[in-house]
Amino acid sequence: MGDYRAPLFLAWQLTNACRCRCLPCCEESGPDQAWPSELSRDEALKLARDIVSAGIPHVAFGGGEPVAVPWFWEICAILHAGGAGLKIETDGLLLDEAACVRLKEWEAACVQVSIDGASAAVHDRVRPGGSFDGAVAAVRRLAQAGLGPEVVFTPTRLNLADAPAVFDLAARLGARTFVTGPLMRLGRAAAHWKTLAPSESDWQGTAACLEEKARGSRMRLSVYPWDIREEIRVRRESPQAMMLVVPDGRAKLLNALPFAPGDIRRQSLAEAWEAVCRAWKSPKVSAFIDRVLADPKLLKHANECWDV
Ligand code: SF4
Repeated sequence: MGDYRAPLFLAWQLTNACRCRCLPCCEESGPDQAWPSELSRDEALKLARDIVSAGIPHVAFGGGEPVAVPWFWEICAILHAGGAGLKIETDGLLLDEAACVRLKEWEAACVQVSIDGASAAVHDRVRPGGSFDGAVAAVRRLAQAGLGPEVVFTPTRLNLADAPAVFDLAARLGARTFVTGPLMRLGRAAAHWKTLAPSESDWQGTAACLEEKARGSRMRLSVYPWDIREEIRVRRESPQAMMLVVPDGRAKLLNALPFAPGDIRRQSLAEAWEAVCRAWKSPKVSAFIDRVLADPKLLKHANECWDV
């Protein structure tokens, strides 16, 4: 990361609000979970313009539900006009045909929709407030628009057995990639870890089954290789040129770490980036990582925002 004057990749949580209360949600988002001081339209559009000025090539929107933010499309227009690539993690319900066509015209690099069960009963149990039918229809619309959507499957004890059938469903819908990986011990998943997390052997068995299916499929399989502790350990050794901006404009190192050394309300984007780069070298951050590696229960602090 030290080779760059700006991040190569900015992850931007526009809001912490969404319509669901998914059991494995990393961010503990939900219908009443908007932060009290989320960025205003003016502040968000300024950040979009600053991203373009800084030449940041990739911006990924996660949630909460980014598409539900009233100025989401204005932000995307600024980023697209400025040459930034767009990635969107969404429930897809607000992406009608016209929105899909617009995203295609804007050459959105990646649109991801979660399907966490092969039936409404399983999907909606893992994602209370969500809509299996809505997610399926969204992936279909995105595929028909030529966007090559990605289907994300989060493995839990509730839906692990459905993984092969969801893989087949995603392929039938025209998904480009089936994305999965070990359950991340963050947010609600951390709070309900004992009841939610599959055993390591069950997860490995499912991953092997998916790899076998992928050998005969045109759809790509992407299995994230690390659990969250390994992710943190690797990133400390070699931080990505990435910065995470949370809904109130503070800048974090990683969604798994509670440190928020930057603040785009008080700092320029360049200053926030410098603060993030410095923080990765901080003894306080390194000591906390050592403690997390020894005691994963400390991951319950991931969504907090601490000074360094
Ligand atoms: S996983 Fe997505 S849709 Fe589900 S609660 Fe979290 S932000 Fe909302």
